Amino acid sequence: MRKRKTVGVPVQVYNLGSPAGAQMDFERDELWSRMDAEMGKKAVSLPVFLVNPDQMDMLYPPEYRRALDPERIRPLLQEEVEREARNRYREREPEEEEPDFFDRLQRSEADARGWTKYSKVVTVGLYFRLQQYNQQFRDSVLGKGDPSLRTAEAENAFLNHQAPAIFLCCERIVDWASRLGISHHLVMDKVYYHELGHAIMDTLPDGAPNPYLESWGRIVEESLANAVAFRCFRGREALWVQRLIQDQPAEYRGYAAAGQLLVSMLDVKFLRDWFREWLHEYDSYWWRRIGHRIEYALDRLERGAWHPEVARTLTEVLRNLLMPLTQIRSHERIDSQKITEWRRFKRRIARAEPWIHQAWKDFAKHLLIEGVS
Ligand SMILES: [Zn+2]
Repeated sequence: MRKRKTVGVPVQVYNLGSPAGAQMDFERDELWSRMDAEMGKKAVSLPVFLVNPDQMDMLYPPEYRRALDPERIRPLLQEEVEREARNRYREREPEEEEPDFFDRLQRSEADARGWTKYSKVVTVGLYFRLQQYNQQFRDSVLGKGDPSLRTAEAENAFLNHQAPAIFLCCERIVDWASRLGISHHLVMDKVYYHELGHAIMDTLPDGAPNPYLESWGRIVEESLANAVAFRCFRGREALWVQRLIQDQPAEYRGYAAAGQLLVSMLDVKFLRDWFREWLHEYDSYWWRRIGHRIEYALDRLERGAWHPEVARTLTEVLRNLLMPLTQIRSHERIDSQKITEWRRFKRRIARAEPWIHQAWKDFAKHLLIEGVS
């Protein structure tokens, strides 16, 4: 008797031939009760395909197969922190041409050692626009699965779906859980939420340059997807999710730092005008002192120098003073604001100004430094 696994929830889950797929339980209340509206909206619209390791290795796009080993990049990050500390209070940018941080980072992943070390943990889940795979390719993916484990309905769903979908590699989920001695349900939920995070942030128009193909884009995207997953959990479970993230490569570890600082939403001119007016009205020693810090931060930002210190100053100010006047609503957490910003950036990436690109690169560097330290 073949039965659908999804009776009781309006979500399509199909096993394409993974023996461990039978252990993935989509009927558990806690899986759904941790979701907010945005995540639930994606969950009801995206099919989930359960696959075995051979199938996942075929499906995982070759251009995504990269990973930064935290141990290897730590010296590079340390150098960067020292260099930034030296430059922090310089008014002008350093004269000599400095080697680009991301070029150096890319060189350190070129030998694929990071990928070799982390591939099993990275290829545990995948969010992908399935329309990019042709029929022949899909047939060979099915060929790698155990046919006795799948229904005709599952085959049809996989062969005919022409939109994004989520893939979960059940054997790798179970392995990861047993390595840590925890429930595979918790690992499945974390991985599923993470992939739904990618779905929430999928705003890239067809044909636009994909920032994910560059290491800075991968760092922002993976850290934010982990931030989306992490905020679903509380207490003991949240702690285990943090332990799981410790097994992931460097790109994934900036989830905690992702919610601290704002990046690109600041309208510098608006802020400057507004702040000058404010200073004019509330003239006091304290305000003049704060005002000096803000003017300095705005100057830096306007020259295209997003820096953690600069963003920290402005974020503090915004949080305390400007909240009602800006686009941030006080009940919104900065990490959800950040996700909104990243979605907006990707939607308009082809037209984004160079300083916005630079701000995201600098933010990615900040995530990497905070995540790996
Ligand atoms: Zn991811």
